[in-house]
Amino acid sequence: MADLKTNGLPAGLNVLLPGVPGSTSRGYLGYCAVTLFTLDGKGEWGLFDTGHYSDRNLLLSALNKAGIEPTDIRHVVLSHLHFDHILNLPLFPRAEVYVSQAEIDYAEQVAAGSTVDHAVPDFWEFLLWNRSIHRVEKEHELGPNCRLTVRPGHTPGGIVMLCKESEITAVCGDVIKNAWEAVSGKAAMAASAQDAAESIRVVMAQAEVIIPGHDRPFRHFQGGLEFLSPFQWEVRTNLYPEPLNNPVLVMERIAARHLY
Ligand SMILES: [Zn+2]
Repeated sequence: MADLKTNGLPAGLNVLLPGVPGSTSRGYLGYCAVTLFTLDGKGEWGLFDTGHYSDRNLLLSALNKAGIEPTDIRHVVLSHLHFDHILNLPLFPRAEVYVSQAEIDYAEQVAAGSTVDHAVPDFWEFLLWNRSIHRVEKEHELGPNCRLTVRPGHTPGGIVMLCKESEITAVCGDVIKNAWEAVSGKAAMAASAQDAAESIRVVMAQAEVIIPGHDRPFRHFQGGLEFLSPFQWEVRTNLYPEPLNNPVLVMERIAARHLY
């Protein structure tokens, strides 16, 4: 456990893969935050979201660095059934899976063709097949200081995990995708913009520390917010005759405080 960075978060929570708030001219990146949690402080490990295929190597090496085997992961919370959050579920065969009933109903509608959502994989049922599933209706107590709560908007069954230590941390999935949504109170790409705005309002009122689905964790206070970890992100290209793995975009931001 020595190498596990806490990202300035309360004990028991670690962002293994940081969310990246961005899109490209070729589409959305879909790099979500993958958060490691422990319920008992003694190695009953869980993951909130799993990322997608291009995250696999980084995710496995982050776990390896932390001294955790994929089979040590006993709980996986799927914030919702979009591909960028669920495709690495098969890496954790011993985990119990938590997903909301509303999200399963929604994915069934997508599969039936009555709702269009291109981010729900066609094989979502296959991913959940033969797994131990907890279907969260409204709330679910995950541990003594940790509960799951369903917040609709981005999709009808988004799950937020609320963990209480000295302060309350909300692991948000795409109920709050990034700091812009938290500050503005409005969500882009929502199944229901009205529900999404209400969910953002409720979660911001419930929690001091926010781990967004696609951004750095931050603590918020009256009139501002403070990011809890720096942001580092590099885009490299292989664009002949330019050099191989050419870093064409290098972004570094310190964990700053911002007033608004
Ligand atoms: Zn997402």
